[in-house]
Amino acid sequence: MFDLLIRNANLPDGTAGVDIAVKDGKIAEVAPGITAEAGEVIDAEGQLITPPFVDPHFHMDATLSLGLPRMNISGTLLEGISLWGELRPTLTKEALIDRAVRYCDLAVSKGLLAVRSHVDVSDPRLVTAEALLEVREIVAPYIDLQLVAFPQDGFYRCPEAAEALVRALDMGVDIVGGIPHFERTMEDGARSVEALCRIAADRGLRVDMHCDETDDPLSRHVETLAAQTVRFGLQGRVAGSHLTSMHSMDNYYVSKLIPLMAEAELAAIPNPLINIMLQGRHDTYPKRRGLTRIPELLEAGITVGFGQDCVLDPWYSMGSGDLLDVAHMALHATQLGSGEDKKQLFQMVTTNSAKIMGLEGYGLAKGCNADLVLLQARDAAEAIRLRPNRLKVWRRGKLVSETAPEVSRLSLAGRPGTVNPADYAPQHAT
Ligand SMILES: [Zn+2]
Repeated sequence: MFDLLIRNANLPDGTAGVDIAVKDGKIAEVAPGITAEAGEVIDAEGQLITPPFVDPHFHMDATLSLGLPRMNISGTLLEGISLWGELRPTLTKEALIDRAVRYCDLAVSKGLLAVRSHVDVSDPRLVTAEALLEVREIVAPYIDLQLVAFPQDGFYRCPEAAEALVRALDMGVDIVGGIPHFERTMEDGARSVEALCRIAADRGLRVDMHCDETDDPLSRHVETLAAQTVRFGLQGRVAGSHLTSMHSMDNYYVSKLIPLMAEAELAAIPNPLINIMLQGRHDTYPKRRGLTRIPELLEAGITVGFGQDCVLDPWYSMGSGDLLDVAHMALHATQLGSGEDKKQLFQMVTTNSAKIMGLEGYGLAKGCNADLVLLQARDAAEAIRLRPNRLKVWRRGKLVSETAPEVSRLSLAGRPGTVNPADYAPQHAT
């Protein structure tokens, strides 16, 4: 006797008509035509079931702060950083917790159940770290939240950051962050990468750096990050976020760089929504897209997972908590549009990011956590195209969010009475 049996589901890998049985918060069986009894039986009606969406790059201390204390007029990364600097001294723990937990409600409704959030440690009060450590506890029943100690104003450039970063790790922040391209000089940037990898190695922690988030082709800190990863034996535990300078780099240099990244088992976390907005701001025409070299990284076997980075904050006035928005933008900006590409893009907002975060029990196999999302779409390609309603979201087998299907009623003579966008899925396209 199972607790829950979901019948006739399609899976992201293209498998159709599968049943998923859940017992004690775990996936007990995945097979067609399961006959056993269950406390509750759901007919997925040939719609897509996926493990939850995963956001490996977010700023939960800044989210929902848009307009405080003013708007970002230039729309640049640098004005965003100085705006955040204006807001930071006024932050209170209560307001931070309030905004973050409210954002998590939205995330759950979008089937987003794992988030890696950077936490600014530039203000030695560390009210941000205190607040988000509390948020990690509050949301633990429904969201896996990892925290990165992030020296937003520079590990060396901000005189108090180095000490505050270590203190944040002592308080229980999980991961070592950095921002080498924001240090005063290339040399300081490279030194910061070394120092931060050393801290991670000494403490047995992962590393996730904002790295080369610039259009400057000579911003090459990812090379140092790969080298220090190997030097400190951190292979498979280090991620480079953004990596937008790679877009503008010389092709010959990149042909040497990508194999070094692969050798270091570096993961890449592009953030397509925000970097389409922020990069190329000094360009006239042609304007660069400011996205890293995603197809080439995938080709080299590098794990690539997409982040949102920002929702309604000093850097980005958009964002919805929906990782399918991110995949949708990535598809267009990278021109990865084939059927196989779409499956891969779907992995970059689910399984790849789960791997980067080191999530245990993630997936659709027997024995995995029963964390599941039912979408109003037939397959992964349609999910990216439609960004459809998350009809049901389960965490450890318990329903945590439900959304009615989007169905419009028509009043047109001689035409059908309703329109369901998911019904338009092409029959022959794969
Ligand atoms: Zn970021």
